[in-house]
Amino acid sequence: TARQSVAQAPVNTRAIQDLDAAHYLHPFTDSKALASHGSRVIVKGEGIYIWDSEGKRLLDGMSGLWCMNVGYGRKSISDAVYAQMQQLPFYNSFFQTTNVPAVQLAAKLVEISPPQFNHVFFTGSGSEGNDTIVRMVRRYWDLQGYQGRHVIISRHNAYHGSTMAGASLGGMSGMHEQGGLPIPGIVHIGQPYYLEGGKGKTPEEFGLEAASWLEQKILEVGADKVAAFIGEPVQGAGGVIIPPSTYWPEIQRICDKYGILLVADEVICGFGRLGHWFGSEYFGIKPDLMTFAKGVSSGYVPLGGVLVGDRVADVLIEKGGDFNHGFTYSGHPVACAAALENIRIIQEEKLVDQVREDTGPYLKQKFEALADHPLVGAAETCGFVAGLVLVQKKAANIHDCVPFDSTLDVGMICRDHMFNGGMIMRAVGNRMIIAPPLVMTHAEIDELVTLIRVCLDATLADLTKRGLI
Ligand code: PMP
Repeated sequence: TARQSVAQAPVNTRAIQDLDAAHYLHPFTDSKALASHGSRVIVKGEGIYIWDSEGKRLLDGMSGLWCMNVGYGRKSISDAVYAQMQQLPFYNSFFQTTNVPAVQLAAKLVEISPPQFNHVFFTGSGSEGNDTIVRMVRRYWDLQGYQGRHVIISRHNAYHGSTMAGASLGGMSGMHEQGGLPIPGIVHIGQPYYLEGGKGKTPEEFGLEAASWLEQKILEVGADKVAAFIGEPVQGAGGVIIPPSTYWPEIQRICDKYGILLVADEVICGFGRLGHWFGSEYFGIKPDLMTFAKGVSSGYVPLGGVLVGDRVADVLIEKGGDFNHGFTYSGHPVACAAALENIRIIQEEKLVDQVREDTGPYLKQKFEALADHPLVGAAETCGFVAGLVLVQKKAANIHDCVPFDSTLDVGMICRDHMFNGGMIMRAVGNRMIIAPPLVMTHAEIDELVTLIRVCLDATLADLTKRGLI
């Protein structure tokens, strides 16, 4: 079958690597270090697998970069893109003009999102979506006469993108150190990471405590200065940090108490990843705005945007006049055509229900069993995201495990063993994480978890040989 066929790629790996090193600056990459060993050249994808230029097959546990929800090689998406390119490859939405796929996609997003959402603003990426959020929430308060109600509260170790506003909203210190960030008016509170802050507490107690940091920050800044709180339902790039069940309802209560806008960054959690269309539905919260990207088009073509709830849309539309914001590619017809076909597939194949009722619980059972491995302190899933913590020495209580010295980069060592073993699993510090395509079958989940275990064994043997354990 197509899934098993190995790409006979007509590429000269060495030549591509040399050109890559000479000219291509990669995102979030030490270019000099990469040039010393060369990039892996990815040439083909089919289903849940990708192939490199040497013909090696890898099970893509990261769905590309959290986006390939319907899997690789969907001919109907490429057909939809091809047809739209021939019909109308581009037109803008600035000149009192619109295009059919953008309108149809906006209506489709309204249909599949919670009832408070009736409007959509399109962007080209998740970062641009979050930049849009910053301008939109500040304008929302300005229009109502609350000038200066501009502060947005986010969290340490959050990821909201790489533009000036996106990286400022994010809570990555390594990003803030470069380029003079965060921009003014963005502040951060601690993340709801039980393993980090929950010692001596139940997860439920810790969830309430982590949410109380929001109230503390609101009081510190002044409630009349705070425009919004933003969070990923489950932090993705921060290492798949799944908050305790008490966290989000308490955040909602605090936002309601002070009248501040609640923004869910659904760039990863949206489009079925947690077994609901949106992650905020999984946690039972009612955001005023939601950022989306990635899964909206399964990454086939770049697309992002903001779902704007009635509370904000009513003010912007009724009182706002021109909103002086937008991108050339807002509502790009080809991207919207790809997204429409992608969502049609998700609906036709009932992938959201499948993850919630069948494959999500199956992945949970299989993945969480990895916690018996000598290197694994804890293993958790939520829908189709999962993470495990590598520890030097296990203990019955996770808070008593002995962590690896962070300078050893054990996660990176483990990630390399995963690659060698045919498995893409991402390392975030000492956490190993996955976000596999939503199309995975039980057999494929078995294969995924078996591969992870084999590669954990290889990592353990390697660490033992190096005297690190
Ligand atoms: N928000 C979240 C939660 C993300 O995970 C990402 C990307 N990983 C972004 C925003 C930024 O999206 P993009 O890379 O498309 O700009």
